[in-house]
Amino acid sequence: MEECLFCKIINGDIPCDKVYEDEYVLAFKDIHPVAKVHVLVVPKIHIKDYNEVNDNNILYISKVQNAIKEVAKICGIKDTGYRVISNTGKDGGQAVPHIHFHLIGGEALGEKII
Ligand code: AMP
Ligand code: ZN
Repeated sequence: MEECLFCKIINGDIPCDKVYEDEYVLAFKDIHPVAKVHVLVVPKIHIKDYNEVNDNNILYISKVQNAIKEVAKICGIKDTGYRVISNTGKDGGQAVPHIHFHLIGGEALGEKII
């Protein structure tokens, strides 16, 4: 996906503040953090959103889920706790159409929707 911001970050065409990387996953600091720790964890293939998750790409989503605790550990929030959020589509408030997981923590977080 040539026009995708996160694909460009994955490809190295746009710089990021990298926190973690493996064959399937990239994690980097959000440019507009909403908490002391705010990292985006993304699969290294273009999947637009949850509606595009399928049997052919689920390995990448699994690897992202498995990496989150490692990213949390690197960020020093594994034991203090954190929240993982993924927005999908218009009503979900998704701004970047490459599925991603906000890992936030480092402080007591604000009011929960659920
Ligand atoms: P969402 O609204 O769930 O699609 O989240 C997109 C997130 O990407 C927002 O929290 C933005 O602050 C973040 N973001 C946008 N551009 C960049 C960038 N170049 N580097 C890091 N984070 C970014
Ligand atoms: Zn992409």
